[in-house]
Amino acid sequence: MKTDGRTRTCGLIGNPVEHTLSPVIHNNLAEDFLHNLVYVPFKVESDRVEDAVKGAYALNILGCNVTVPHKSAVIPFLKDIDPMAEKIGAVNTLVRTDGGYKGYNTDLPGLYRAMVSDGVIIEGAQVLVLGAGGVARAAAMLMADKGARRIVIINRTLSKAQALVDEIGKFYPEVILEAASLDDLSRFNEKGAYLAIQATNIGMYPKCDETLIEDSKFYEAIHTGYDMIFNPADTRFMQLVRESGGKAYNGLKMLLYQGVIAYELWNGVQVSDSQAEIIYEKMKQNR
Ligand code: NAP
Repeated sequence: MKTDGRTRTCGLIGNPVEHTLSPVIHNNLAEDFLHNLVYVPFKVESDRVEDAVKGAYALNILGCNVTVPHKSAVIPFLKDIDPMAEKIGAVNTLVRTDGGYKGYNTDLPGLYRAMVSDGVIIEGAQVLVLGAGGVARAAAMLMADKGARRIVIINRTLSKAQALVDEIGKFYPEVILEAASLDDLSRFNEKGAYLAIQATNIGMYPKCDETLIEDSKFYEAIHTGYDMIFNPADTRFMQLVRESGGKAYNGLKMLLYQGVIAYELWNGVQVSDSQAEIIYEKMKQNR
């Protein structure tokens, strides 16, 4: 990659950032579009988030992604925020505007584009969301927004599941919403009735043989399992879904599309499906 006096910079604000795949997405897109742009990781400590956002703006940085643990912490330092990002209370993309950055959440449309590309139907679906953290919250909001009929939040800490249910209910009163604890799963026994989204960190590398729910009976109720984890590529959750006859996907495509959408916002371009497919293959090689 050749840089010169006109090179624009984008980056990732987070901690840790060492294992990120985002440079693979953005630097390859820049090369493909012949954009004079580099993307680099910025490790930011929690007490320096304000300095990082204001400093990035002062340094004329075109845009940033934001990852854990700073997705909510950046919000007070933005000039503006997209309504959906405000609704989920988390920003993963900063877009340069006059006088400051505007915050977006591209995880959500990223998950949507990934699901559409995998042929998953959300409208009218009954959805089980495993987890009640940041990603579960975004996934549940997306499901409600795209017309899911019923959403059940299943979480180790029931109060967090209930809090999420209450919050989604405020925005989407037409959706049937329930919270469930891990010892209350036997009622989900309708064979092949549910789309399930695995949004906890159980089963992530290196603890690849773990999963939130081991009971194989539970998996018989799932027609499609979407794991937000992308390392390993084939999680225990995905294996259990497939063993019970369902289809299973990992979170790498969501990661791809959240990056693609951020790149589109920064550069005012549209990334084609074939361009995205090439980047996806590169991500698999670099995982
Ligand atoms: P988070 O906010 O920390 O939430 C973690 C969730 O996992 C909570 O519901 C927590 O339950 C549950 N959990 C954690 N340890 C547990 C345990 N030992 N037993 C039972 N439940 C446990 O995390 P997040 O930011 O939402 O991330 C969730 C996952 O999404 C991660 O695996 C991450 O890698 C993945 N992710 C994927 C993408 C992508 O693009 N594909 C993007 C971002 C994140 P409690 O409420 O009971 O603590």
